Parts: sequence; C-alpha cells; structure tokens
Amino acid sequence: MPLKTSEKTTRKKAVMPIRSRIDYTSKARMNKIFAALDKLFPNAQCALKHENAFQLLVATILSAQCTDTRVNMVTPGLFQKYPTPQDFAALRPEVLAEDIRSTGFFRNKAKNIVGAAKKIVSDFGGQVPRTMEELLSLPGVARKTANVVLGTAYGLATGIVVDTHVFRFAHRLKLSQEQSPEKVEQDLMKIVPKDRWITFSHQVIWFGRKVCLARKPLCATCPIEKICDAPDKTV
Ligand code: SF4
Repeated sequence: MPLKTSEKTTRKKAVMPIRSRIDYTSKARMNKIFAALDKLFPNAQCALKHENAFQLLVATILSAQCTDTRVNMVTPGLFQKYPTPQDFAALRPEVLAEDIRSTGFFRNKAKNIVGAAKKIVSDFGGQVPRTMEELLSLPGVARKTANVVLGTAYGLATGIVVDTHVFRFAHRLKLSQEQSPEKVEQDLMKIVPKDRWITFSHQVIWFGRKVCLARKPLCATCPIEKICDAPDKTV
C-alpha cells in the first residue's frame, strides 16, 4: 500500500543520517571558528616580505608553487637590484628568470612580472592599481594575488584570499564543496563578515601552515577539533 505523504516524511526523517542535518555554515559554528582563529593568531599578517604594493605583487606572483620562506630569500636582493616597477619593466624576461630561478616555474613568472610591470608603468602611472578589475588586467594576476595586494598593501576588503591552505580549510570544515578557488571564495564571502575578510585570510593561511597541515593535520591539539568532521582527521 502506498505511503501517505506524512508517513513518507516521517520515514525519510528516521533514516536521514545525523551528519547531513548539521548546518556547517551556521553563525554559531562560524563564530566558534573565528574565536579560535583570533585566539591562535591575534596579529596574523602576510608572511611575504615587502615594503610597498609593487614588491608585494612581485612576491605574491613568485609564491605560486613555492614556499614563502624561499620567496623571502630571493626578494630582498631582487628589490635591491631592481628597486622600481620601471626597472622591472625594462628587463628582458630571460634576465629576470635567472634571478628568480630558485622559486620554480621561473620562466613563466619572469614573463608575468615583466608584463605586469610594463602595464603598471604604461597604464597606471607606475602605481599598482587599487581595484580588482584593474589588477586582474595584469599578466599573471588572478583573484588570489589581487586579494593579497588589495587587502595587505591597501587595506581594501574586496574578497578572501583562497590559496592552497584556505582551500583545504574550507573543504575540511565543510564550508564549501566547490572545486575552484573562485567558487570557494564566493562561498566564504557569504559566511565570513566583510570586516573579517582580510584578517580571516591571514589567519587561515597561518592555521593551514601551523595546525591544519596538508598531510597529518595536528588534530589532537586543534581548538576546533570538536566541530570538525574532516574525513582525514588524525584523531
Ligand atoms: S581537527 Fe584536524 S582537520 Fe579539522 S580543522 Fe583541526 S587540524 Fe584541521
């Protein structure tokens, strides 16, 4: 005999697993995450050494597929050798490539840095632009890099930096199921208050480096372990 609608609902509820009913993006859960991050990293800052927006832009391009520590070993000498965007714009990419070889993918990075410097000089009066749209017009600059520059150098909250750490964090904490950094960013922007976007980006990057490591996350000492359902938890 077919079930009545009310019976169907009851039966459906009875077999629904508890986990699927958890609201992973609820305000209460997000506040616990924010509180833990604030406690762990109250003064989280960008780890890339820089003295101005242009240096930060170059350092961020260099940091793709490379550690910040390695980038910080290369950039002081690089910026001493080429102090201005005009100096970079005048370089042949092959020459710059030799200076940045140790950061990996150096030919492509050199091409992008010289291209970005040329455009900054020709179209933006030698100043790194302050809008997402303009930054995205520079070679080698996607939303992640633009968010780093706008947030850290200019204090402008235009989005959330989604690098490898933030992407992993969003998935482990089930804040996003999306597979592209851009879509993960859109999900995070809906659940993280705008006045937290810059700090949250820094904090989660540090959290990914120090606690929620890619391999063997330190779950036993993680302050949000109780609200984390990551399948690769180590406790
Ligand atoms: S419990 Fe483990 S996987 Fe979950 S957030 Fe903490 S460190 Fe990451």
